[in-house]
Amino acid sequence: MTPVSLPILTSVPVEDDRAAAVRAGRVLLDGGEVGVGGASSLRGAPSHVRTLMDSLGRSIRDLRVSITDRCNFRCVYCLEPDVRFMASEQLLRPEEFARIARVATSLGVRTLRITGGEPTVHPELTRIISLLRDAGGDDLAMTTNGSRCDAASLRAWREAGLDRLTVSLDSLRPERFSAITRSASSVGEVVAAIRGAIDAGFTPVKVNCVVVRGFNDDEVEDLAGLARELGVDVRFIEYMPLDSGRAWEPGKLVPAAEILQRVSARFAIVPREQSDPSSTSREYAFADGSRGTVGVIAPVTRPFCGACSRLRLTADGKVRPCLFSLAEWDIAGMLRAGATDAALAQRLIDITWTKQAGHGISDPGFAQPSRPMSAIGG
Ligand code: SAM
Ligand code: SF4
Repeated sequence: MTPVSLPILTSVPVEDDRAAAVRAGRVLLDGGEVGVGGASSLRGAPSHVRTLMDSLGRSIRDLRVSITDRCNFRCVYCLEPDVRFMASEQLLRPEEFARIARVATSLGVRTLRITGGEPTVHPELTRIISLLRDAGGDDLAMTTNGSRCDAASLRAWREAGLDRLTVSLDSLRPERFSAITRSASSVGEVVAAIRGAIDAGFTPVKVNCVVVRGFNDDEVEDLAGLARELGVDVRFIEYMPLDSGRAWEPGKLVPAAEILQRVSARFAIVPREQSDPSSTSREYAFADGSRGTVGVIAPVTRPFCGACSRLRLTADGKVRPCLFSLAEWDIAGMLRAGATDAALAQRLIDITWTKQAGHGISDPGFAQPSRPMSAIGG
């Protein structure tokens, strides 16, 4: 396997002064990682900052809400079979997710995305959707592995107020699908979920596909063909070092440029105008006018950190300013201790202010966060 050379990013290191972080009150975990801080340890935003804006001027418009770290899949790039999940008492209750989301929308968040783990394994998913719908914002979306999306559930989620659905699918080949997901589910079930989502009125329906060298890079063209066949937006995602097995290495990464080359060898594609500058994806239409689109999400080779508008809430009530944050901040404790909405809002403002410039994957001192993607929420 020939390792690809990654471009040197201009972002600052994830945590360039751990000692200072610890002095500021954040906790040093095993392995030197900076962990959860208490309310008093967070350096506040300047008093004139009244919205979710970070110290680099980026505004938060998108809150990712991970409602559970549990999952019925064990995707090779995400979750090892022996991973241990959090106890259910540790997780926020539906009303608690909604309360934090409401505070976030009062501060300018427009999109709420439900994620996990696998959100469809949560027994109260439909209620969470309704509560988040009532929490404000313009757009409520969810990402799922598509294994538990029968027609009745899709209808119920749509009626409860879910606007958009993204379904993950990394292979169209039955045996390979099983090898990647290490699940009892099937390609047929996931494709049926995508079709069902279209029928239930979700618009647009997106399909996420993580491309991993040696696993599914030879299927990029076929997955692009699925976009045409079903009229959906297929987005290829570069593999990131967020897997619980810590097996990521540059050689397993398939750069977006290579993905696009493969798609173009089969179908002529043309770039679409980017309507949302903070969008993580570069979109392409088919030159022959076919329905469907393809996109690439290239956090590693074309980082979009400079336009990032996201904040993440974990299922156990920690706020993470970045997917790759080494520091995360508790909000559940405050909420359960009876904090007012104004105090919760101030907490979110202060946390946002600490958002790091970039993920620093290509920096020599890069450290992978201890939480895997499944416990952060993609
Ligand atoms: N379980 C749901 C699913 O798979 O769609 C939602 C949670 S999952 C963490 C969200 C997205 O993150 C999925 O599209 C998944 O493929 C992607 N993902 C997981 N691990 C990743 C990694 N190491 N690099 C890039 N994307 C990853
Ligand atoms: Fe589960 Fe999604 Fe991770 Fe796959 S990518 S293991 S479905 S959380």
